[in-house]
Amino acid sequence: MGDTAGRGGLKAAMEAESREWLVRCPACGFERSVAEMGGTRYKARGTKKSFLRCPNCRGFGWHTVYRAGTGVRLAPLRPSRPLWWHIGVFVGVLLLFFVVLFLILNRASAGPRDATTGYFAAVGAGDWAGARDSLTVAQRDQVTPASLAAIWEAQERTHGPVASFDTNSFSIKNGRARITGMLRYRDGTTETRVVQLIEEGGTWKIASAP
Ligand SMILES: [Zn+2]
Repeated sequence: MGDTAGRGGLKAAMEAESREWLVRCPACGFERSVAEMGGTRYKARGTKKSFLRCPNCRGFGWHTVYRAGTGVRLAPLRPSRPLWWHIGVFVGVLLLFFVVLFLILNRASAGPRDATTGYFAAVGAGDWAGARDSLTVAQRDQVTPASLAAIWEAQERTHGPVASFDTNSFSIKNGRARITGMLRYRDGTTETRVVQLIEEGGTWKIASAP
């Protein structure tokens, strides 16, 4: 039947094309077809790179997969690199990616983090007016330097003044930043604090309860 013949014809065409696609070692130029490697490549275009071990020179490298007779310009042969070199390049690229990601996040979080650590530093120093300046207009309407001192008084009477604040996580969404961190008192007591911030007039201010 036509259907069976069509399917058989397709299979034959796929096999024939897979024999035309060659896989070339970048180091020694050894070539074998995709079909020889047990694969299929059909109705594909251009060239492709595959990281493989060459059965001829035994080196690892990015083999060029190209279709024979299409006039593809092949790169000159290069000495093969040991596997550890490829792994090193891979790890290096990965590290670079994380360093860049860290720098981007670090930069994005700098304003909110500075506002938060500045606030807790002022609290620790008993600079209640300075601490109040770190708050949003709405929060400043709720507290005076004296009431801010009263808010912190109970904790400080038990544990001593605030000693430090370390950011553990940071997120920013729709212009609102959220910082979670560890607040440490002079006596070593710690507590988790979640601080919400918004940007007011180009400066990050604390919008959550002080
Ligand atoms: Zn080779």
